Amino acid sequence: MYGTGIWRGMWITLRHFVNTYVDDVKWGFQRHVPPEAFPVRQGLQGRGSFTVEYPEEKIAVPERFRFIPFLIVENYDHPERPGHDWCTSCGICAKVCPPQCIWIVRGTDPETGRPKPEPVDFYIDIDICMNCGLCAEFCPFDAIKMDHDYELASYDRTGNHIFDKQHLSKEFRYWQSIAPTVAEKEAEARGGWEHKDVLKARAKEAKAKD
Ligand code: SF4
Ligand code: SF4
Repeated sequence: MYGTGIWRGMWITLRHFVNTYVDDVKWGFQRHVPPEAFPVRQGLQGRGSFTVEYPEEKIAVPERFRFIPFLIVENYDHPERPGHDWCTSCGICAKVCPPQCIWIVRGTDPETGRPKPEPVDFYIDIDICMNCGLCAEFCPFDAIKMDHDYELASYDRTGNHIFDKQHLSKEFRYWQSIAPTVAEKEAEARGGWEHKDVLKARAKEAKAKD
């Protein structure tokens, strides 16, 4: 019937308006007390309107959220290879990247001059990256992952927006903290929490001892 859409729209607006105050009363007019108040109120279970006061407050991002990629390095307190790159500079991520915004400089052995499976430098132009996640999908070593850090504003659009290896590298435990479920599934598929090379070396060592 003519006009029912308008009434329905007004009813939804009124319901949200009332629910906003009902929710305020329910949580005692507190945004952060108890600690679960903010995540619930700004999430899907929240009722009425709730304004997140960014940048003082931030919306929690889901585990599958993906932003500019980062490189995984071994934890800095790793007993065998602290801070070691998981990346082997195979170049697959650079090949599959649709806008071609990854540059990798492969290391060489100073004695033999032959290429080494580790990157000396690794650059991503974050102004070109479209956060598609293909690099992370295709990496055979689980070495590049999509980050949750979306705060990239800076006064310099040139150098600051080309992330180098130092800027891109983050400890493995960081990946475990932002994506615990995915990290666990990947570890299961690899056969352990460590990089494939470490697992292989340990298996070889154990075999030699037998
Ligand atoms: S695909 Fe993975 S291992 Fe290969 S260069 Fe890229 S990040 Fe490194
Ligand atoms: S997320 Fe996509 S666009 Fe960005 S570096 Fe990876 S493959 Fe390239």
